[in-house]
Amino acid sequence: MAKRILITGAAGFLGSHLCDRFIKEGYYVIGMDNLITGNLKNIEHLFGKENFEFSHHDVTKFIHVPGTLDYILHFASPASPIDYLKIPIQTLKVGSVGTWHCLGLALEKNARILIASTSEIYGDPLVHPQNEEYYGNVSSIGPRGVYDEAKRFMESITMAYHRFHGLQTRIARIFNTYGPRMRLNDGRVIPAFIGQALRGEDLTVFGDGLQTRSFCFVDDQIEGIYRLLLSDYPEPVNIGNPEEITIKDFAEEIIKLTGTHQKIVYRDLPKDDPLQRQPDISRAREILNWEPKVSRSQGMKITYDYFKSLSKEELKKSEHKDFSLHNKK
Ligand code: UDP
Repeated sequence: MAKRILITGAAGFLGSHLCDRFIKEGYYVIGMDNLITGNLKNIEHLFGKENFEFSHHDVTKFIHVPGTLDYILHFASPASPIDYLKIPIQTLKVGSVGTWHCLGLALEKNARILIASTSEIYGDPLVHPQNEEYYGNVSSIGPRGVYDEAKRFMESITMAYHRFHGLQTRIARIFNTYGPRMRLNDGRVIPAFIGQALRGEDLTVFGDGLQTRSFCFVDDQIEGIYRLLLSDYPEPVNIGNPEEITIKDFAEEIIKLTGTHQKIVYRDLPKDDPLQRQPDISRAREILNWEPKVSRSQGMKITYDYFKSLSKEELKKSEHKDFSLHNKK
């Protein structure tokens, strides 16, 4: 009998890649999504497969799944600053109430659950690179608080279910990840820069561009999550690529990659935008025997080819000029 896995956020960027991976591994996959930020196009190719079904459901409402479940991956959540600024209350609810429902379901089904946490729980970090022992530097009331605090609650309630009920839980702290199926208009830096290059617009760097990020290609991320789920390790594990770059240097890389003749223009830095971010992945190396394999130049080429393959209409629709959202107090 195939193992049965529920993946919430299945139509999203990471969720859809996870569906692919578990289908490939021979699992029976139930993909769940409310389609607020997810897109059915990401999983269209799975419809009609006999080991895949889709459930259009919002996990902040009671979740019912008929039959047995062996695993749950809870990946439903807006995950870009623009999205959670637009839908702050849903973001809080899916991280809190949605996680609570998923944990209750896991308990009911005696399933192992992995939750998608984030480097955002470290906030604007005072420790560099960030290891799992660091408690973070988060503003609970700032614009990012709705995401950061929901994810921190998510980790707390997951550990409580683990300690109190003995539930098998796993916590992935996911750092910036990119690749095909990112939404062109989600406001994240990679779709933003590539979209601007493809539309012939200038690249908007926020602040002085000296803030850093470390970008992990999606295939590496999925491999890390897969290994973590199958491990026996209940504490949080950072999954990300430690190769760090400033946003300004990254914009220059994208100018080279795309061959655009546009220039860099500077905009205000969004409130609470972390100044530096780099995962310490010693724990993942040791426990999962995992580290990223895809270099930024290889991964960005694949990602650029994906965005280039999108239609002109999609590109036009993705125009994103509302930077004001970022700077609301
Ligand atoms: N960023 C930028 N220009 C953009 C979009 C983002 O300079 O058009 C910056 C943003 O301020 C941040 C970094 O790129 O410092 C990464 O932003 P993203 O939204 O991708 O992710 P996060 O801030 O959650 O790491």
